[in-house]
Amino acid sequence: MVTKPSVSQSKNSSHNQESKQSNKIRKSNKWNDPKGKRKCPFYKKITGTTFCVDAFSYGPISGITAYFLSHFHSDHYYGLNKTFNAKLYCNKITANLVSRMLHVEKQYITILPMHQSVVVDDVEVTLLDANHCPGSAMFVFRLRNGSVHLHTGDFRASEEMEKLDILKNSVISELYLDTTYCDPSYDFPSQKFVLDYVLATVTDALKCNKRCLVACGTYTIGKEKVFLAIARALECKVYAQKNKLGTLQCLEIENFKTLFTSDPHSTFLHVLPIWSVSAKFLRNYLDQNADQFDCAIGFKPTGWTHTNNVTASGIVARQYGSISIYGVPYSEHSSYSEMRRFVQFTKPRKIIPTVNVGSPEKRREMNMIFQQWRS
Ligand SMILES: [Zn+2]
Repeated sequence: MVTKPSVSQSKNSSHNQESKQSNKIRKSNKWNDPKGKRKCPFYKKITGTTFCVDAFSYGPISGITAYFLSHFHSDHYYGLNKTFNAKLYCNKITANLVSRMLHVEKQYITILPMHQSVVVDDVEVTLLDANHCPGSAMFVFRLRNGSVHLHTGDFRASEEMEKLDILKNSVISELYLDTTYCDPSYDFPSQKFVLDYVLATVTDALKCNKRCLVACGTYTIGKEKVFLAIARALECKVYAQKNKLGTLQCLEIENFKTLFTSDPHSTFLHVLPIWSVSAKFLRNYLDQNADQFDCAIGFKPTGWTHTNNVTASGIVARQYGSISIYGVPYSEHSSYSEMRRFVQFTKPRKIIPTVNVGSPEKRREMNMIFQQWRS
């Protein structure tokens, strides 16, 4: 019997450990000061290389020459700041964000192309789209001795990935796998299903009332495809506050200038922080914009949830007078079955989980699952 992984707990476990540790020894904010910092765990180092992935909270790591960043989520870049002075490798979008938000000096950042191999310290490196947040990348490392290691970063496996020659034609020695939802109970609809549902809901709402606000909740980075799908299908602009527009500008979105606006009156589609998609906030928002809107629909894209009041599709709809709020299970991590399919496609010789690895028991459970998949 496999117990459910406590995702949020385990995802944050390194942070909890960091804060516990900081009670004893005050951790230095300087990247290259080892004071109070933990030792880098093995699963962040790539076997047979001098590389590490998403390992910035340990200070300079002995023997490491290249620090790779898979994407701009805080549990992956944690520890990276303007004092970083080693060699950072990432793609263009992540580099834009690292410069803008963390003020890492440009001289330390090497931008790597997507889907094109380059040589870093004698290793052939190829970045592939991880289908997670904007800029998210998987890394294929081809070593001089012929070994190929694949690091997924955070990813949502898709059938599109099975068409990539580099994955079709490589024998993967070690797969560093995003195991966020590595349990059979984690199943949720495809992103396409959710986007189609959102589009149909918005279209119906606007048919009933043209003065309807459509509010999409977002994080700093992530879930952008929800409001982009609405904007592209309905050919409307997207309103966001100035600071959010600055972040969105880093994402190299096509037709950025015609797509986005800082004028809330020029469109019904507003991007808001995820916490503000609530009945109370939207009620005030409607009152403040009564000249423009009569009613509102809000979308709160989430990962997998334990909520009871869900439909078969996993979508939660709640009505508060003229306000409707939809919790939509738009996951940017693989479901259990997608992860299994990806492993069975890549056929790695060894799998190294990178999430929920806090306890030996959890690692054992995941290894049992991997054995079943490969038998
Ligand atoms: Zn992530």
